[in-house]
Order: sequence, then C-alpha cells, then structure tokens
Amino acid sequence: MEPQNFIEIRDLRKKYRLGETFVDALRGVNLDLKKGEFTALVGASGSGKSTLLNMIACLDEPDSGSILIGNQDTTKLNESQKCVLRNEGIGFVFQSFHLVPVLTVYENVELPLLVNKSIPPEQHKERVLSLIRDVGLKDMANKRPDTLSGGQRQRVAIARALVTNPGIVLADEPTANLDSKTTHEIIDLLLALNQKNQVTFLFSTHDEKLMSRAMRTIHLRDGTIFA
Ligand code: ADP
Ligand code: MG
Repeated sequence: MEPQNFIEIRDLRKKYRLGETFVDALRGVNLDLKKGEFTALVGASGSGKSTLLNMIACLDEPDSGSILIGNQDTTKLNESQKCVLRNEGIGFVFQSFHLVPVLTVYENVELPLLVNKSIPPEQHKERVLSLIRDVGLKDMANKRPDTLSGGQRQRVAIARALVTNPGIVLADEPTANLDSKTTHEIIDLLLALNQKNQVTFLFSTHDEKLMSRAMRTIHLRDGTIFA
C-alpha cells in the first residue's frame, strides 16, 4: 500500500499589500508530501518559497486554501493550537540560523523542550546531548554561538529543529550563508538525519548542489508550482 500523504496543501493563496497595490505571493498552490520525503523547493527569488514555508509552519496565515498536516487542517486552528503544533510537530531552520546569542549550544537546543509538554523533563538532557552528538558538535555543548563557524551554527539550529521529534522539518535556504564545502557537509547531515529519524524534510534553495541531492524537486514560479 502507498504511504498516506503526510502533508496535503490545496489551492493555497496569499496576497501581500505593498503600498497601494497587492502582490500575489501564492496563487493556488497544491502539494502533497509523504512521510519521510526529502524534498527541495526551488524557484527564483520572489517566487514564493519563503511564503509557502511560513504558511506550512503556521508562522503566517493564507488568504484561502487548506494545509493538512497529519489529518489536521492547520488553517482552522486557533493561536494556542498553532503554538502547540509549531512546538511539537514542526521544526524550522532559517537561513541566518536565529540562535539566541546569550545561550550556550546546549541551551539553544534545549529551548523548544522548555515549552514542550509531550517529552518528559527527565528525558530532556539525554535528548539534547544526543542531538548535539548527531550534528557533530559533541565537544561544543557549552560554547556560545559567536564562537562557532557558520556551518557549526547551522548544525545547532538543525539540532534545535529536531529536538522535539517533529514530523516535518522546514528549512528556508539553509545553506545560503555557507561556503560550498560547508554546504555539502550540511546536506550530508540533513540526509543522514532524514534517514535516521524518518522525518519529512522540505527545504527551499536555489543551490544546484542541494537540489541534486533531494529525492524530489518542486519548482515554484510566480506563486505556482509548475513542475
Ligand atoms: P522567495 O522566498 O521565493 O524569494 P517570497 O515568498 O519571499 O519569495 O516572496 C514572494 C513575493 O511576495 C515577492 O514578490 C515578495 O516581494 C512578496 N512578499 C513576501 N513577503 C512580503 C511581505 N511581508 N509584504 C509584502 N510583500 C511580501
Ligand atoms: Mg525566501
């Protein structure tokens, strides 16, 4: 039997106001993702990649359309339900890392667990340390972000995205600020974590190297998927 779709997006639309006019950021996006898929979202700057990822992450609201995650239509949730979903069901990796500078690597990775009710506190330490090990930063748990390289910072952000054991990890141009060697290392890491955790990955990129490593590539142009 074919695995069921983990994510189903139907006719998703979003306009942004820009002064006197409106910009059509998404004009009817349909997309299905299966559990465990490793998918690249590709498109020129302005094609709607960030808008789509932010909608799936419940960081922004569509004008119309539906987003099913599991069997829940996230466009129908209230703010507190969305908070729970963002914390427990979704990991997000940003282009510019977004770590908390005054916290250590350990504390940054632990952060999502402090508001999480599904993982018991006595399991936190082991989870945080195992994620830090998985991303290759075993000896850096007590360091602050400003002492780390860009690639190491993104590894911390990836560990933080996975620490609550989410069903999906979304990453918005995760390697755009990294050099080419580091980019390869981060892709290898994402692929290994995808295999190990069976988590669904959707990441935007215009990096050919990243695209070619994905199981599947989705092309976005002017707010619609065309291939
Ligand atoms: P991408 O991530 O592919 O570069 P975006 O999703 O950021 O594309 O943007 C899609 C379109 O929506 C662009 O034309 C962009 O200028 C516009 N847009 C995105 N966010 C906003 C916003 N907050 N306000 C106004 N326009 C926006
Ligand atoms: Mg973007």
